[in-house]
Amino acid sequence: MAGAEPTSGQDAREAPPAAAMDVLAGRVAEVGGHEVVRVLPTRARRIVGAWCFADPIGPRYISANDEENIAPHPHIGLQTVTWLLQGELVHRDSLGSEQLIRPGGLNLMTAGGGVVHSEEGVPGWSGSLHGIQLWVAQPDSTRDLAPAFEHHEALPELTFTNVEATVFVGGFAGAGSPARADTEHAAVQLVLGTGGTILPLEPSWEYGLIMLSGLAEAEGEKLAPGSLYYLGGCRDELGMTVLEAGTAILLGGLPFREKIFMWWNFVARTREEVAVAYKQWSQDDRDRFPGVSSKLARIPAPRPMWLTSGE
Ligand code: MN
Repeated sequence: MAGAEPTSGQDAREAPPAAAMDVLAGRVAEVGGHEVVRVLPTRARRIVGAWCFADPIGPRYISANDEENIAPHPHIGLQTVTWLLQGELVHRDSLGSEQLIRPGGLNLMTAGGGVVHSEEGVPGWSGSLHGIQLWVAQPDSTRDLAPAFEHHEALPELTFTNVEATVFVGGFAGAGSPARADTEHAAVQLVLGTGGTILPLEPSWEYGLIMLSGLAEAEGEKLAPGSLYYLGGCRDELGMTVLEAGTAILLGGLPFREKIFMWWNFVARTREEVAVAYKQWSQDDRDRFPGVSSKLARIPAPRPMWLTSGE
């Protein structure tokens, strides 16, 4: 999935930020012919831990004749995390992976120095599609290494008052996902029943909450789909009251200490690195960006606006 304009990360920090309840409205973006409300990055916040991108998927109804396709496109320097609440998608990548994604299964692709993937609908399938795609910025120690792909269906589940939690990335409340994590960060699905709940947090991390459905209230704010609720750090718990049952995604992690430069599908550190990746994708350089077994034509990269006409 594609970001549109260049963004850069938070400045390096040594201590976790203070506790907060910042309501950060998402913005409409277009992905695969559909409008999405992108809740990360936004102008006010570029990153939460190593989480640098969050696009809710749907909910929308797919008929058997619809083509729900995101054609082959490249990534560098990030992991894609695809997590569905409803529906099915097929992941294909330049490592030769072909994986059906369904609710409860974690799809995790690590781009490293370069990978290509497509995300396609299942032909003839109809029903409701709902979920989220997240990106994790890779640290300098792994971002130039080989790409990789993982899929996990056995994930830890935890029960709290009025909440069923699934830890799909990283650690939460003493449970850990088996998925690769290059930094300290976590993503947790929270299936919310109505009533009050208290969730344990790690004080050295910062957190953000995304509602995919339902309505809750915490610290005087109503929590609903379409925004990122930035919780800051220095918290050992979050209390909330669920007014309408639904599902939320909790993201957290140690503040990411490397300043990222993010443009289109690339997470890098400099414009120069992005310009090289842009040119290699545009020239169909198969050493950097190998092919994908997909009948779809690859998505062309937009031209970086900082390149002069001769470059
Ligand atoms: Mn992608």
